[in-house]
Amino acid sequence: APILIWLRRDLRLADHPMLTEAVETGAPLIPVFVHDEVVEEQGAAPRFRLGLSVESFARDLDAIGSRLVLRRGRALGVLRALARETCARAVWWSRAYDPAARARDAEVMEGFDAEGIETRDFGGHLLFEPESVETGTGGYYKVYTPYMKAVRDRDPGAPLPAPSRLLAPEDWPESERIEDWQMGRDMRRGGAVVAKYLTVGEQAARARLDRFIARGIEDYAIARDRPDIEGTSGLSENLTYGEISIRTCYRAALAAREAGAEGAEHFRKELVWREFAYHLLHHTPRLVSRNWRAEWDRFPWSEEADSEAVTAWKRGRTGMRFVDAAMRELYATGRMHNRARMIVGSYLTKHLMTHWKIGHDWFAECLVDWDPANNALGWQWIAGSGPDAAPYFRVYNPETQLGKFDPDGAYVGAWIAEGQETPPETARDFLAAVPRRWGLSAGITYPDPIVGAAEGRDRALAAYKARGN
Ligand code: FAD
Repeated sequence: APILIWLRRDLRLADHPMLTEAVETGAPLIPVFVHDEVVEEQGAAPRFRLGLSVESFARDLDAIGSRLVLRRGRALGVLRALARETCARAVWWSRAYDPAARARDAEVMEGFDAEGIETRDFGGHLLFEPESVETGTGGYYKVYTPYMKAVRDRDPGAPLPAPSRLLAPEDWPESERIEDWQMGRDMRRGGAVVAKYLTVGEQAARARLDRFIARGIEDYAIARDRPDIEGTSGLSENLTYGEISIRTCYRAALAAREAGAEGAEHFRKELVWREFAYHLLHHTPRLVSRNWRAEWDRFPWSEEADSEAVTAWKRGRTGMRFVDAAMRELYATGRMHNRARMIVGSYLTKHLMTHWKIGHDWFAECLVDWDPANNALGWQWIAGSGPDAAPYFRVYNPETQLGKFDPDGAYVGAWIAEGQETPPETARDFLAAVPRRWGLSAGITYPDPIVGAAEGRDRALAAYKARGN
C-alpha cells in the first residue's frame, strides 16, 4: 500500500529525511500538497511565493518519475479522502513548529489514529529538534549566547543525497490545478513586480548558496550590515519553504570556515539565530501573539492598525528616508535587509509608539521570506518585549544610521523617487506595485518627518520611564 507524503515547508529533494526514509520502504509514494487552513491564513506575499515554490517542486518531482498531487481544503478532510481513494497505509510529513501548523498537525494525527492509519513526522526543518537542546537544569534557553554555546560543537550530521526516483503508485489520484488556486490573487498585478526579485526552487537555491560561499562569505561580517550592497546570502526566501535544507547551509558554512573564509563563523551564527527562534517558539508559542514579557502589556503602545502614522509607515511616507526606503523595498520586492528591518521596527515601536504586533502582521503580509519564528523573534527583539531583546531605550536614529550603513545614499536613492529627475528602476517598480489609492507618484514631494528623530526618541524614553521599570 502507498504512503502519502504530505509536503509543507519542505519543498526539496535533497537532504530530506522523510523522503529518504520513505524511499527506503520500497512502497509507492504519493506526494501531496494541500492548500489548507494554514495556507489560507498566510499573507499575500508569502502565499504567492509558496505557489511558485510548489510549482517548481512539482516539476522536480516529474523529472524523477513522480508527481505532486494538489488538493484544497481542511487538511484532515482532504488527506482522509485521499487516503481512502489510494488505500494508503500511512501519512508522513516533516515537523512544523508554529502554533497554527501544530494545531493542524495534531488534528490530522488524531483523526488518522482513530482510523488506524499510521502518521509519522520527521525532522528536517531545523538542525536540532527544539527539545533536544536543554539547559543544565533541563529547561529551555531564553538567551542566545548560551544557546549558541550549547549547540556549537554539535554535529547535525551530513546532508542526505536526493533520491533519483520515487516509486509511483499504479494509478495517480486526481490533482487540482494550481492556476485555479490563484495564489497570487491578493498581490497587485499578480505579483509581477515582486516576481522580478525572486529566486525560486531547489536548483536556484543551491546555486545561490554556492555563489555566496564562493564570493560573499569572505566579507560577510562587515558587508552584512550594508543594505546598499549585496552582502548577505539572500537564502531566507528559500529556507522558509525548505527549498534548501538548513543543514546544507550550515555544513557549507563550516566547510568555508575550515577553508579559512573570514565571515564563515559569523554566517553560522546567523543560521543559529534561526534555530534559536524555533527553539523559543516551540517552548513558548506566545512568541507569535503576545508580549513575551508580560510586563510589556502595561506599555502605552498604540494598537490602531490604520492610524495616520501606521499608514505612512506602511507606504514609505514617514519622511525618514531610511525607514521609507526600507518599507518601499519590502512592498516592491517582498524582501527587506536585516539592518533595515531593525530600523523600521525601532521607528514603529519607539518613534511611533505603536505595538510591534502591527509591524509583525504587515511583514507577514508582505515578506516573501516570512517565517513564523524569525518574524516573531525579530519583532519582539526590536520592541524590547522579547526574550534576550534589545533594551527598549536603545532607540535607533534613522538619520545617523544612514550615515553608517548607506554612506553614499545608494539605498535611499534606489527607492525614493521623489526629487529624482530620472528615478531608477527600483523606485519605479515600487510606484508600479502600489495601489492607485495610495496616491503616490514620482511627481509628488517628499514629506517632512511625521515624527522627528530626536522628538520621537524623547517621547519613547519618557513613556518607558513612566512605565516604571
Ligand atoms: P543572511 O544574512 O544571509 O543569513 C542567512 C540566514 O540566517 C537567513 O536566511 C536566516 O535564515 C538566518 N538569519 C539571519 N539573521 C537572522 C535573524 N536576525 N534572526 C533569525 N534568523 C536569521 N527572517 C526570516 O527569515 N523571516 C522573517 O519573517 C523575518 N522577520 C524579521 C523581522 C524583524 C523585525 C527582524 C529584525 C528580522 C527578521 N528576520 C526574518 C531576520 C533577518 O532579517 C532575515 O533572516 C535576513 O534579513 C534574511 O536575509 P538573508 O537570507 O540574506 O540573510
